[in-house]
Order: sequence, then structure tokens, then C-alpha cells
Amino acid sequence: MEQQEGVWSYSAVLMGSPVLLKLFRHDPSLAARTFRLIKRYEDLFTVNRTPSQVMDINLAAGQHPVVVSRPVFELIACAKAASLVRGGCFNLAIGPLVKRWRIGFRHDNAVPPADELAALLALTDPQNVLLDEAAGSVYLALPGMEIDLGAIAKGYIADRVRDFLGREGVTQALINLGGNVHTLGAPQGGWGIGLKKPFSAADALVGVIDVEDKSVVTSGTYERYFEVDGKRYHHILNPATGYPLDNELDSVTVISTDSLDGDIWTTLLYGMGVEQGCQALRHKPEIEAIFITKDRRVVASSTRNVRFTLMDDSYTFTD
Ligand code: ADP
Ligand code: MG
Ligand code: MG
Repeated sequence: MEQQEGVWSYSAVLMGSPVLLKLFRHDPSLAARTFRLIKRYEDLFTVNRTPSQVMDINLAAGQHPVVVSRPVFELIACAKAASLVRGGCFNLAIGPLVKRWRIGFRHDNAVPPADELAALLALTDPQNVLLDEAAGSVYLALPGMEIDLGAIAKGYIADRVRDFLGREGVTQALINLGGNVHTLGAPQGGWGIGLKKPFSAADALVGVIDVEDKSVVTSGTYERYFEVDGKRYHHILNPATGYPLDNELDSVTVISTDSLDGDIWTTLLYGMGVEQGCQALRHKPEIEAIFITKDRRVVASSTRNVRFTLMDDSYTFTD
């Protein structure tokens, strides 16, 4: 616990990431209950260890449907819908490829052989994730299929934390779930949320985003990657090729009411790129994005709910 001018910060390590909770009162019990809530959801969604309901589904692939709890069913249904969005690159059935690459988890990273990746691609069709609403069950039609909710679990959980804190009577708080920032209300002066400078020191910022009562989610290719022969391989995979996405982007940040939307859209927009992404958001006033490109442009899809202040003059900002 750390205290600063009326703000109490509580931290933990959950979902393999640092988690930070900022409250405007001294309440270690509330912080402990918040962290327990996160842990409970982590145990439902993880694909890295048993027991977990998502692991149960994966282990029964090609064999039988698995009845799961409501949150798991709903998150998978939502992830399947996102996987069918045209032009996006979200795919909840990407698991076999994620496991094969192991980007960010191993130290002896190597590029998998092309024929292996091609074989695994055949196991990633989202249409083969079969949902039975009445039974509340999920069935993966082919043996070897694996669901991976790594791109959206934090967003879903951040929303549950926001709801929980609201029910507890909290009107101002910030939760940072390893890159998914969610806010309730705003302190005087607003929440200034730093936009990280790609491939730089952990505290280096390109600018600051001011929001109130919003979620701010960033997906960056600078977070987890490895390099072979001068080429970078990061952890957001292109479901069409089986290789990491190769485009103009270093990061995408989405500002939205719900963190789940933010998580889905960061991945969708990563696949779309700046131009197509801004186009797609024109009909979605509730979702705003800030792209950072490899050639040091910062592009905002709109600035309705967001104020962005550029702090690094080696970048240019346009909206
Ligand atoms: P993080 O917050 O860990 O940086 P993201 O929210 O950007 O992660 O999601 C990346 C994670 O999502 C990967 O580690 C992997 O588990 C999963 N993933 C990778 N590629 C895809 C994809 N095309 N569609 C859905 N999930 C993906
Ligand atoms: Mg995400
Ligand atoms: Mg994320």
C-alpha cells in the first residue's frame, strides 16, 4: 500500500501482470476483496493451468461439450461474435498457434516451421466453436482445438471490478489490470493516463490521455516479442497466416465505456490498421482509438470523449 495526497494505492500480481488499485480512501479490506474477485475470474478463464473451465473445454475438444458457468459462456459467446467481424483479426480459437509460438513465455524463442503453423491454422476456425445456449455448454468440434481468451479476459474482469466498486459505494477509483485501465469518476484535474512510448523505458510516455468514467485499453507489439535475424515477432497473431501481424502499428489504445469493448476493439483495430480502423469507428461513436505507428505518428479516430496531450515531439499527433 502506498499513500499520496488522499490517494491510496494497492497492488498485486494477478493474471501474470501487475495490478494496481487506486482508491480515495484507506480501505485495505476493499482492496483485498477486489483482488479476490479478480482471482476468482482468473481461475475461470485461464488457459495456462487447471482447474479452469476454459481448460476443461479445451481438454474435451473433439470429444464432448462442456457445461460452463454463465460468465464463461457469455464471454465465449462474445468472443465468437468478435471473431466473425469482417476485416478484424480477432479469433478466439487462436489457442493452438498461441501455444506453439509461446511468445513472451520462453527464453529460447524460435520461429516455428511453416508446415507446422499451416497444420495448426486448420484448428482455428471460430465456426467450429459450438455454443448451446439452452444447455449452457461449449464444444470444440475438432481434437486439438483450443480457445484463448487472453485478448479479452482482462477487459471483462475490469468491468466486473468497476461494477463491484460501484456497488460498494465507490465513486472515484482507478484499476490497472496489466494495461487495461478502468476508471470510476475522476479526481480533480482528471485521470491523466499515460500512453506508453513503444520500445522505450517503461516510464517513457508519448502523451497523456484525459478521461472520466472510461476504460483505456492498450495493445502494443512492444510488450511481448522476440527477435530473430533483426525481425521482430510479437504476441498478436494474424489468424489468416499464423504469423504475428505485420503492419504499420506499434500500439492501439481504445477508450470506451466498457473495458470488454476496449479489449475486443484493440485486437480488431490491430488487424485493420489506421485507415480502415478509423473508417470502421466512424459508425461507432462510443468507441475511440489512438493509434501509434512505426513511423511515429499518433492518430486519434476522434476526440469526443478524450483529450490527448502529446509530450514527445519526435511524434506527430493528428485527429
Ligand atoms: P496483452 O494485454 O497481454 O498485451 P492483448 O489484449 O493485446 O494482450 O491480447 C494478446 C493476447 O491475445 C495474446 O497473448 C494471445 O493470448 C491472444 N491472441 C493473440 N492473437 C490473437 C488474435 N488474433 N485473436 C484473439 N486473441 C489473440
Ligand atoms: Mg486485448
Ligand atoms: Mg490486453
